[in-house]
Amino acid sequence: MHAEAPLAKTIAANLAEVRARIAAAAHAAGRDPAGIALVAVGKTHGAAYIEAALGAGQRVFGESRVQEAQGKFPPLKSAHGDLVLHLIGSLQTNKAHEAVALFDVIETLDRPKLARILAKEMDKAGRRPECFVQVNTGEEPQKAGVLPLEADEFIAFARDDLGLPVTGLMCIPPLDEEPALHFTLLAAMAERNKLAHLSMGMSADFEAAIRFGATHVRVGTAIFGAREPR
Ligand SMILES: *Cc1c(COP(=O)(O)O)cnc(C)c1O
Repeated sequence: MHAEAPLAKTIAANLAEVRARIAAAAHAAGRDPAGIALVAVGKTHGAAYIEAALGAGQRVFGESRVQEAQGKFPPLKSAHGDLVLHLIGSLQTNKAHEAVALFDVIETLDRPKLARILAKEMDKAGRRPECFVQVNTGEEPQKAGVLPLEADEFIAFARDDLGLPVTGLMCIPPLDEEPALHFTLLAAMAERNKLAHLSMGMSADFEAAIRFGATHVRVGTAIFGAREPR
C-alpha cells in the first residue's frame, strides 16, 4: 500500500479537526451539526488541494473568482456529481453567464443590476443556482454587499419581483470588530425575511457564527493552510 501524500494527509487531518469543532459548537448551542454546511474555501490553492479534500469526503467548496473556479472545477465536478460549488467573491455582471453555468450557489448577490442580469441568464440557461444576498453589515465603503437598511427592499425585489431563488444571506464582518453583533444582525434579517440560510463565519470565527445561527461556514485557512498574497 502506498503512503498517503503529505498534502492529502494534512488536509484530511485539518478537515477532521474543523468538522469536530463545528460539531462541538453546534452541540454547545443546542443545534444539530447536520444543519451546518462546511464550505471549504480553496481559493488561490491548486486543484491538488481540492482533490485532497474530496478524498477526505468533503463535497462543498467555495471560490472567490469565476475565472479561477473555471480553471479548477469542471473536471472535478464531472468526476464527483455531488460536488457543490459556492461563489463567495464579488460577481461582475460580465461574468454572470459563466457563474450561472458553473456555480450551484451564488452567495454574493448585492445589487439590482446584477439581480436583473442573473435572472435573465438563469432563464436562458434553464439553470437556477440558489442565491444568497450579501449584506455589508459593517457599512464599510470598500466592501461589497447591500446596506442593512436597504436589505429588506432588495431581497423583495430580487425574490418577489424578479423571481430569483433567494434562499439566504451572507456577511463578512469588519476585521477589527467583534463579529457577534454582525452575526446577530444578519440572523434577525434572515428571520424577518423568511430566509433559511445564513452564511457567516470563517476560520477565525466560525464557532461564534454557529452560536448565532450560521447554516454555512466558509473556512479556508484552517483547512488548506495560509494563502500566498494574490
Ligand atoms: C477567503 C474567504 C473565506 C475564507 O477565509 P479563511 O479566513 O481563510 O477561513 C471566507 N469567506 C470569504 C468571502 C472569503 O473571501
